[in-house]
Amino acid sequence: MKKQRLAILGSTGSIGTQTLEIVRQHPDKFEVVVLTANTNVNLLAQQINEFKPKHGLICKDILFKNLKDQVSTGTQLHSGKEKISELACFDEVDIVLNSLVGFAGFEPTYAAITAGKKIALANKESLVVGGELIREALRESTSELIPVDSEHSAMLQCIVGEPKDKIEKIIITASGGPFRDFSTEQMQKVTVEQALNHPNWNMGAKITIDSSTMMNKGLEIIEAHWLFDLPVEKIEPVIHPQSIIHSIVTYVDGSSKAQLGPPDMKVPIIYALSYPDRLPLQTQRMDWSITHELTFKPVNYAQFPCVKLAMDSIEAGNVAPAILNAANEVAVQRFLNKEISYIDIPKIVDKSLTKLSNGHKISIETLQEIDAETRVYASTII
Ligand code: MG
Repeated sequence: MKKQRLAILGSTGSIGTQTLEIVRQHPDKFEVVVLTANTNVNLLAQQINEFKPKHGLICKDILFKNLKDQVSTGTQLHSGKEKISELACFDEVDIVLNSLVGFAGFEPTYAAITAGKKIALANKESLVVGGELIREALRESTSELIPVDSEHSAMLQCIVGEPKDKIEKIIITASGGPFRDFSTEQMQKVTVEQALNHPNWNMGAKITIDSSTMMNKGLEIIEAHWLFDLPVEKIEPVIHPQSIIHSIVTYVDGSSKAQLGPPDMKVPIIYALSYPDRLPLQTQRMDWSITHELTFKPVNYAQFPCVKLAMDSIEAGNVAPAILNAANEVAVQRFLNKEISYIDIPKIVDKSLTKLSNGHKISIETLQEIDAETRVYASTII
C-alpha cells in the first residue's frame, strides 16, 4: 500500500482526533495534507504544528488571525467553510475523511465524489439527506465511498466477498442508549445531563443525543439503505446493549455473519482508511477467556418514535429525509440550549415532516431550500 495522503474534515472532533491517533501509529502509511476545524482553533493549531499539513482551515473567519499566530509551520492557512470542498478536492489528496457534523458535510462529500476521491465517510447526513444524489454521482465516478460508522463498517465487513443479491436482511444493532429501560413517564423528565451520558460510546454532543432518542439508528437505517441499495423493510434494528456485535447480515440460505469487537471507533476508521486491506491497530481485544453476555431485544417504537419517523421518511422519499434531518438538528440544539423538553424532539421532527413534505424532486438546490425552510420552521414551533 503506497502512502495515502489524507484530508481530514473536522479534525478536532471525536472522529478527527482518533484518525490522527491512527496516523501516529502508522506514519509510514499515512500523511496528513489537509486539516479543517470549525471553531476549536487551539487544537487545530496544535495538530497543524504536529502533522505539518499543506493546508489548514478554520471555518470561523474571526478565528483566522488567532490560528495564524499559533501556527509555526509552512502550512497554507484558510478560513471559511465554503472553502472546505475545494481543499478536499486538491490533487494531492487521496482519501477524504469526512467527519463534519450535520448537513454541512453533504457538499464536501458530493464534491469529493465528483473529483474521484476515496471517501471515508463519518458524516452520515451526506447519505441521509442526499443519498439519491450521492448514489448517482458514485455511478459516474471512480470514487469509492467507505463508511466509518461502526454499524455500516460491520455490514461492509460481512458483505465483502459475498454476492450482494443474496443478502436477505441486515440486522442493525443499537445500544439503545441510556434510556433503553426507561418508562414513558421517565422519558418525559430526561435532562440534558442525563442524555449526554452515553453508557458505551464516547462521542460528540449531537450524536450522543441522537443515540439517546435512537434517531441515530433511524439515520443509520437510511444510511444503510443508500450504501447497500436495500429497501428499508430488509433493514431491521435490534437493541443489543453491550455494543459488541456491530451488525449482522443474513443471507438467503439462512446463514448470518456478524462483526464483533469492543466498542472503539478507531476500528471502523482504520478499516475505512485501509480498505480493502487491513492494518494492525493497537487497541483493546475481546477477551474470550471470560464470560460474556450478548443480549438482544426488539425496538419499542412507541418509546423511540424517532426510529419510525426515519424509516417512514425513506418510504416518503424525495426531500422527506432532508426535512427529518434538519428538524432533528434544530430540535437537538434547542434541547441542548434547554429551550424545549426531551420528548419535544420527535414532536418537532414529526410536525416538520407533516408541514413541509412535498413531492419536489431532489436536487442540490431543492435540498438546500428545504433544509433552510425546515430550520426556520423547526426553530419556531412549540
Ligand atoms: Mg453508528
